[in-house]
Amino acid sequence: MIRKNTIKCKIFSILFLSMKYADRLYDEFGKPCHAWKEACPHCGASGKCSEHDSYCRTVIDFVSDEVCLRRFWVRRVKCSSCGHTHAILFDPVIPYLRYSLIFVLRVLYAHFCQGWSLSSIYGTFGIGARTFCRWAKIFECHCSEWLGRLRKADCGAAGSLEVLLEKDPYADFAVAFFRRTNLSFLQSHANPANCRQAHPAPLCFSRCSHNTP
Ligand SMILES: [Zn+2]
Repeated sequence: MIRKNTIKCKIFSILFLSMKYADRLYDEFGKPCHAWKEACPHCGASGKCSEHDSYCRTVIDFVSDEVCLRRFWVRRVKCSSCGHTHAILFDPVIPYLRYSLIFVLRVLYAHFCQGWSLSSIYGTFGIGARTFCRWAKIFECHCSEWLGRLRKADCGAAGSLEVLLEKDPYADFAVAFFRRTNLSFLQSHANPANCRQAHPAPLCFSRCSHNTP
């Protein structure tokens, strides 16, 4: 997978967007991908990627206080050097997860920063306790990697989330996190095609999967 970090502002500023503005977050998926500019994340070759195909991806989003379904096309490139294909994913999408980045962060924010109970979360977002706990654990794990265990312990989940939401721009954080771990923030499964190149820090949720990124 090739990540494109396109959120050039604080992510907090887009957490409560209306549909009109939230749609713009997905505009990049519809634009030409200029495949030859991409370095292959598997073998590292430059100038060897070409546009291969695309597939339809659906994510569950949360916009204007409503759960909504978002459908878009993901472009895939192929490296002529090693033969691997790679999906191009932009910031609003968490690989292998059917919920958008904004959706997951809204749920975490509602609980940790606004004090929503798990039953209120279920009522508004349709997210059960088991899913919430899984997301909270991934968030805690990734914050430990990012902030370091001591500082994270000082901040707590709410403090860590507030620090993250105020990162400006979010894209810089996303790039740094990916370089360090070879995972996107809140991604639970590693991408098999990226495994050969990367030497990520050990993460509690780092394992390979063959699901659709
Ligand atoms: Zn390659």
